[in-house]
Amino acid sequence: MEMLEAKEQIINTGKKLGQKNLSPATSGNISIRFGENILITASGTCLYELCKDDIVLMDMQSNLMHGTKKPSSEKHLHAKIYQMRPDINAIIHCHAPYVSTFAVCHKPLSRPIISENVFYFGEIPLADYAMPSSDKLVKNTAKFFDSHDAVLMANHGIVVSGKDLQDAFYKTETAEVYAQIYLQSLQLGNPVDLCKQDIAEIFELRKAAGFENLKH
Ligand code: 13P
Ligand code: ZN
Repeated sequence: MEMLEAKEQIINTGKKLGQKNLSPATSGNISIRFGENILITASGTCLYELCKDDIVLMDMQSNLMHGTKKPSSEKHLHAKIYQMRPDINAIIHCHAPYVSTFAVCHKPLSRPIISENVFYFGEIPLADYAMPSSDKLVKNTAKFFDSHDAVLMANHGIVVSGKDLQDAFYKTETAEVYAQIYLQSLQLGNPVDLCKQDIAEIFELRKAAGFENLKH
């Protein structure tokens, strides 16, 4: 893929995040693996108003290779996840309101209440709080990606990975709806968990569809 095409993918994904209210103001960042390097949004940009110059190229050590703006302040987290997982080619970090509500209350999205979410995520664990952009945040968060594709960051938001940007976007939206339904089900009262047998069957389906195995 040409760099221009890759940048357009990021711009379009930013617009979709805005349309779905998944990325308020200048929060969040998007990246894709680009050969040996990473294309990532610049720090302080609004994801639904990106232009081509708001996307920069950096290497796997987060050194700027191309572009005039500073890469996202979460660049080390993105780079670390790409280094750990060769199957991951796109990452979205955002402060979507429902998932962030769970992050604020230090509650992982771990209850097996929706079959689709068990299929896609197993669970979405919670990383301990660390200051945004810090090395500690990378340490606390990246380790979960050895066995998960999305992680809540305490008092902050969510990081979601995908095999491509479309996959990462759909998973971001799916996680947000999961959090919304979970919260509503608690308000209505007594959400019902799937049983062990139901979960095992969903994981069989996942395996048959060629997905990596997740912890559950
Ligand atoms: P950047 O604008 O530097 O990417 O930071 C946004 C953010 O969400 C930090 O966690
Ligand atoms: Zn953030």
